[in-house]
Amino acid sequence: MANKDEKICIIGGGPAGLACGVYLEKKGYENYTIYEKLNKVGGKAYSPKIEVNGEKRSYETGAIMGAITYHAVSEMEEFGGYYHKGPDFKKGEPNMRREYRSVSGKDAGKVIEPFNPKADFSFKKLIKLVKLKKQFKKLARLMETKYRGYDCYGHIGVAKGEYYGISKLVDGYEGTADGQAFPNYLEGKNPALKDLALPFKKFCEINGVEEVQRIWIGPYTSFGYGYFDEIPAAYVLKYLDMTTAKEFVGLRLWTWQDGTQEIYNAVNRKLKHPAILETEVVRIERPEGKVVVTTRNGKGEERTEEFDKLIVTTPLDYFKEYADATEEEKELFGKIVHEKYVDFIARFEEEQGPVISGYMFENMEPENLGHAMVYYHRWEDQGKNCPCTVYALRNHTGDPDIPYEKTLEMMKDDINKVLKFPIKEVLYAQESYYCPHVSPEDYASGWYDKLEAIQGNKNTYFAGEILSFGDMEDTCAASKDIVGRFF
Ligand SMILES: Cc1cc2nc3c(=O)[nH]c(=O)nc-3n(C[C@H](O)[C@H](O)[C@H](O)COP(=O)(O)OP(=O)(O)OC[C@H]3O[C@@H](n4cnc5c(N)ncnc54)[C@H](O)[C@@H]3O)c2cc1C
Repeated sequence: MANKDEKICIIGGGPAGLACGVYLEKKGYENYTIYEKLNKVGGKAYSPKIEVNGEKRSYETGAIMGAITYHAVSEMEEFGGYYHKGPDFKKGEPNMRREYRSVSGKDAGKVIEPFNPKADFSFKKLIKLVKLKKQFKKLARLMETKYRGYDCYGHIGVAKGEYYGISKLVDGYEGTADGQAFPNYLEGKNPALKDLALPFKKFCEINGVEEVQRIWIGPYTSFGYGYFDEIPAAYVLKYLDMTTAKEFVGLRLWTWQDGTQEIYNAVNRKLKHPAILETEVVRIERPEGKVVVTTRNGKGEERTEEFDKLIVTTPLDYFKEYADATEEEKELFGKIVHEKYVDFIARFEEEQGPVISGYMFENMEPENLGHAMVYYHRWEDQGKNCPCTVYALRNHTGDPDIPYEKTLEMMKDDINKVLKFPIKEVLYAQESYYCPHVSPEDYASGWYDKLEAIQGNKNTYFAGEILSFGDMEDTCAASKDIVGRFF
């Protein structure tokens, strides 16, 4: 019999931590505490306000977009009473339009149309596009048949050729979210799923769909999630499942007027116990049957409190630095790797910036590590005066990292010199701990099943980005799954 009075500690006030609070409340647990080390909630959903032409609006340095497959995020919206805009954007709303630019050769800096057969027509281009269309259809068919079950959130069983979990499919997701009933919980065996441990590049090769990487690379690599020769296909296809990928191609995306951070501000305002800010968890001890948590507040004061259960939504590779991690936890979490995703918001010289967002495909290959891959232009009505966020990755398996400062310089050069949008000032720059994942080898050897096996040991549960994928939807859904199954 579940004890709904048990005292639960949640580390982290990002999307995952707040979602744990939401789903615990839905199941009748009200004795929870969320600790957040910063003076704000939302984690990497961070949307600072910037003044342009005398008006302050939201810009994004972290999460930006969602799609029709964002079921758990919809539940967060419902809980907080704050909703997305799109996919049809009206005047005065942020927009998601984009164009593509070349960065080399005679076309350097120019707008190109790689997916339009009529622009710069050649038979070679036409044949490549026909091939792309055919392979897209082929992959869609394969994912429905050969890889049935691939679209469950999370990775439990995949390395063994099994699937368990809530399906991301649009049809059948009833989203009742009472924390207990998962109407479209799927379960089954499918040995072909083991292929998902392969790097996405290899996965495409064995299935004869190499061309589709040209579509997936935009919302995958340029969004900081790594390169296709290093990332298991499971991550790529669970985030960009066929429905989500089609929504991205068709530009049917969501974004939020006051920024994604506002989703979580709104949730936090409605929680019975809003996150306790500026309070970092600095020590965890787990003697028999208890969890003893020490926090440090903004004034440097430490406080120790006893809980019955612990939910960790923060990076597990750092868990051993403040917790009494077991040998098993140390070994498992030591295998987590993450991306180093750099972004800055730039203001341009008067009337000299871009007018919509731009993607530079050539810079999404490992050879061009550290170069600007994409810039995000949020407010169409601000035209050439709209500050833009510029993004790059600075790590790739087997290559030395590009130093952070050098990456910023390379990104600025790309924007100033190659694209010829003169930057007046950089308003905000950061590097994010991004997209935690495991290597194809660790994935194949059952890393996720080993994680599942330790859930609940020492009254501790692990949630957050590593569970399924590093986006808002997968992290909130992982919290739903953990709360649903273990509480
Ligand atoms: C540039 C960028 C673009 C992105 N674009 C998108 C997008 O378009 N769509 C999308 O869905 N997702 C996007 N994401 C990803 C999305 O923001 C993350 O996947 C999501 O925020 C993860 O939520 P989380 O709660 O697991 O982790 P986080 O958001 O990282 O939150 C973790 C929280 O824990 C706190 N914390 C850490 N250690 C402690 C401690 N010891 N004690 C107390 N608190 C602690 C942190 O301060 C933080 O607030 C983007 C992210 C970035 C950086």
